Amino acid sequence: MVEELLEQETADPISNNNISLSSLSKKEKIANRVKERNSWTTFKKPNELTFIGSVLPKYLKYYYTKHPTEKDLNQSFPVKLYDDGKIDLDALRSPPSSQIQATWIGHSTTLVQMGGLTMLTDPVFSQRCSMSQMSGPKRFRPPPFSLKQLIIKERIAIDIVLISHNHFDHLDYYSVKKIAKYMLGYSNNINPTSANNSENNTKNNDKSNDKRGVKFIVPLGLRAWFKRKVPKSLMGNNSVVELDWHEKTIHTTSLNSKTNNIFEHGNSNGLNKMDNDIRNFDCEHSSSFDVTVTAIPMQHWSNRYGWDRDKTLWCGFSVVASARVYSTPKSLDEKDIGDSDNFDGKSTDKIRGDHSTNRSKTELKFLFPGDTGWFDGLYKIGEQYGPFDLAALPIGVYTPEHFMKPMHMSPDDAVRMMTAIQAKKAVPIHWGTFCLAAESIVEPKKRLKKALETADIDQSIFPAWFIGDTITSG
Ligand SMILES: [Zn+2]
Repeated sequence: MVEELLEQETADPISNNNISLSSLSKKEKIANRVKERNSWTTFKKPNELTFIGSVLPKYLKYYYTKHPTEKDLNQSFPVKLYDDGKIDLDALRSPPSSQIQATWIGHSTTLVQMGGLTMLTDPVFSQRCSMSQMSGPKRFRPPPFSLKQLIIKERIAIDIVLISHNHFDHLDYYSVKKIAKYMLGYSNNINPTSANNSENNTKNNDKSNDKRGVKFIVPLGLRAWFKRKVPKSLMGNNSVVELDWHEKTIHTTSLNSKTNNIFEHGNSNGLNKMDNDIRNFDCEHSSSFDVTVTAIPMQHWSNRYGWDRDKTLWCGFSVVASARVYSTPKSLDEKDIGDSDNFDGKSTDKIRGDHSTNRSKTELKFLFPGDTGWFDGLYKIGEQYGPFDLAALPIGVYTPEHFMKPMHMSPDDAVRMMTAIQAKKAVPIHWGTFCLAAESIVEPKKRLKKALETADIDQSIFPAWFIGDTITSG
């Protein structure tokens, strides 16, 4: 905590002197996406004067006069805490292979387990979503567990972190640094009982082959932030992959029953269950999962320091886990898309194109849109990338509507979005944690219930959950 308070993020202007030819083309790509979004009739640029004149006063009035007290929230919206033994740790340790499993950590942060991979979406574990931990919007509900409890104590490794954009309630410097640090010291071979802290792990396991890295997947332009902010000493096997809309990266996991049942990127605690489940699907000698992450368009914007509006891209992510079976692995010589490095200029695992000829019937699809307002392109996303088995859809921060609607979803918009993107099931995010609008942090829950009733959709298809809950795609 002391470290967090002292080590505040500093706002560095992006220096034009450092722009190389390739970053110029990146800049152009981002500018084109901005133009594309600006052409959508549902989008309206957020105006600073409107914000100061009519949004901020409403927000502050709500924040200081009407916000529920902690006592109210403990009753109406309790958090399931690790420290109270309320987390379904068995589920986290042994996620089902035939479903997507999501655990809500608060706001847009979810722990998603699918296809043998464990992912975090927009991880924010800090007390405030702000440039500094001294001021800015504070957290009204705690996270159910800390990153240390999850990664170090429970030995649940994070394989992928999805970052949708650079707003402070989605990109948290402290959480990114902690994930990088804990995963840097994470080894597949360590005995869980001796895993007391990451420093010990690092000392005891210095063979790089044993180490697992985390892959941060970010929209175009955001890798520069990682280069500036995350110390190089914390990167090691960790990597950052930057994607434009419709670009993808494939993360391959493998399980070979002939050898040691090594599951390269999955949760080692869930090996036996996963192994058996895979054998139930297929009877070949070796199996593996391809988890394809594709950045997809969303109606939002970016801004971190005030002078960098829309200088980096924003996106949602489609995540598809495909269980593959093959007798003879085919060569992986398809085109590379996207851009990846581990900070020293060396390419890490690049995109490996489409393995559709090898693909088995087993496929799971998840959507994380990050932030978005309603736009008609959502239908196209449903056609192109759906249907989704599970989607984590934003339902909060919609008041006042005239300002928020182009960038955020109300529960009514989210229910409409669920249909448009062809999601079979959804879980609600972007509410219940930070007070960022002139509405109660728990109001979206009531409005979601009504919106589902109006749309004649069963509540179990889009269940309002509590922080700390674990839900499967079913
Ligand atoms: Zn945002």
